[in-house]
Amino acid sequence: MLGGIEAGGTKFICGVGTGPDDLRTVQFPTTTPQATVEQAVAFFRAQEPVDAVGIGSFGPVELKTGHIAATPKPGWRDFDFAGTVRRALGVRVVFNTDVNAAALGEERWGAAQGLRDFMYVTVGTGIGAGAVANGELVYGLKHPEMGHVRIPHDLARDPFPGCCPFHGDCLEGLASGPAMQARWGCPSSELSPELPAWDLEAHYLALAVNNWACVLSPQRIVMGGGVMRMPGLIERIRTQWASILNGYMPASEIVPPLLGGRSGVLGALVLAERADS
Ligand code: ZN
Repeated sequence: MLGGIEAGGTKFICGVGTGPDDLRTVQFPTTTPQATVEQAVAFFRAQEPVDAVGIGSFGPVELKTGHIAATPKPGWRDFDFAGTVRRALGVRVVFNTDVNAAALGEERWGAAQGLRDFMYVTVGTGIGAGAVANGELVYGLKHPEMGHVRIPHDLARDPFPGCCPFHGDCLEGLASGPAMQARWGCPSSELSPELPAWDLEAHYLALAVNNWACVLSPQRIVMGGGVMRMPGLIERIRTQWASILNGYMPASEIVPPLLGGRSGVLGALVLAERADS
């Protein structure tokens, strides 16, 4: 039996099981690190014992030590996430980013089965992406931060200055859920699909997809997260990206996650499996 934690900036999903068919989950809001991790630990203690726990965490993170890094989220900076869970439960813990975990979940059971080159992208509270190239997750000095790439920002068309606390109008600052809310004055889920807001959103995401695909050449790009739930957004991104590509190279397939909101927690189980290796 394995345990998984998808640790998001706004909510935690904890699960116990071996895959989609027997997964039991609980979900609660992310508050302080101590209170939130205590809730997670209490959930695991109430279930049958797990052999290992995988954590897919919001970031940025220090992968080697399992700490949270320079987050603006109050109280979480430098928090020893993996160590706290390991000490509380007395099991091995495998720690990675939320998007890398989701990529592994979609690879095992979802929209990326059998692929060696693909990406999992989330567009929600933040924007992040996990890439698998030649069958392996992509790392560098640290983990990639593909949500913070710079894209062209036409201030005449979109005077919104962006809301990334580090960069202003990086991709996340222009196209995340909080960016849409700050620009348009309501949550993205309340913006009607016909509004030009969605053309602008698709434009920004198509520019980013183009940059990622020019570097990584993925066969498929799985795009999830709260903002991506808007009907028609994927089609608009495909159309706008085709126009940006202008026939230069074939477009990667852009698809929604097959595991819905469970990509991350299921991917955390895949991480937990790796505790032995
Ligand atoms: Zn940024």
